[in-house]
Amino acid sequence: MGENREAREAFVTLATNDTYALGCLVLGNSLRRVGTTRQLVVMVSEGVSESMRQQLAGLFNQTISVNVLDSSDTCNLELLGRPDLSVTFTKFHCWRLTQFQKCVFLDADTLVIRNIDDLFDREELSAAPDAGWPDCFNSGVFVYVPSDETYRNLLALAVTSGSFDGGDQGLLNLFFKSWATEDIKKHLPFTYNVVSQAFYSYLPAFKQFYDDIKVVHFIGAVKPWHHSYNSASRTVTPLPNTGHSQEFLQFWWDIFMDKVQQSLDPQLGGIVGDLA
Ligand code: UDP
Ligand code: MN
Repeated sequence: MGENREAREAFVTLATNDTYALGCLVLGNSLRRVGTTRQLVVMVSEGVSESMRQQLAGLFNQTISVNVLDSSDTCNLELLGRPDLSVTFTKFHCWRLTQFQKCVFLDADTLVIRNIDDLFDREELSAAPDAGWPDCFNSGVFVYVPSDETYRNLLALAVTSGSFDGGDQGLLNLFFKSWATEDIKKHLPFTYNVVSQAFYSYLPAFKQFYDDIKVVHFIGAVKPWHHSYNSASRTVTPLPNTGHSQEFLQFWWDIFMDKVQQSLDPQLGGIVGDLA
């Protein structure tokens, strides 16, 4: 137990470009803020700049380069004919982190509000229901066990079946299809992955369980860094119709301004909201 176990368990996230890397920086800071005792790992692909990698390295215990298309592996070669699956493929690299015994994957558009280290007591594959179709889990937050074999099997399924939604979530739900019915302990409470649409689709529940919210997930095309931020008043003005709650967006921006923005390479400033 203790130190030894903590060194072998990691929170893992992913960025394929500098914009998503900003999300990783805010996410990593949100995990540090709640005092996690586990390792922080970020996977980056070639689209992430050198200066951003240095920024990430100052926060994460490990920055791991992954290739979107890695021709050293036969399964990967088959995927070369399926460019639609390339981002999907990149997330699956998390199973190759076999230096760890257990990991929790978090999308770069998630924000940790309260300590979630208890997730490491869960088994693979634990995840919260998706708000759109609750018999599917949302793949923005999941507990898993790194394994090269699982990685290969996932790629094999990607090649033979494809993903029913074109993304990682469709494929992971096919692969871990017993999740829906087999073991209720693998169903994380929704508070571990509160997707943005919950804020408007069931407002009374949002209010009732507000104090239990552990992870907020800004799903959809509009991300926290797209909203406009007023540096003078230090407030964010949400774009319309995104379902993003003002208070959690503000929290994302507070962390961004306090912990991330001042140490960013000025060249990177231009990719965020109205800050440029
Ligand atoms: N991602 C990335 N680059 C991309 C798209 C996605 O690095 O161009 C990673 C990032 O970690 C992101 C995750 O893949 O959080 C899943 O994508 P996204 O969060 O945009 O999907 P959503 O949650 O909105 O369905
Ligand atoms: Mn996401």
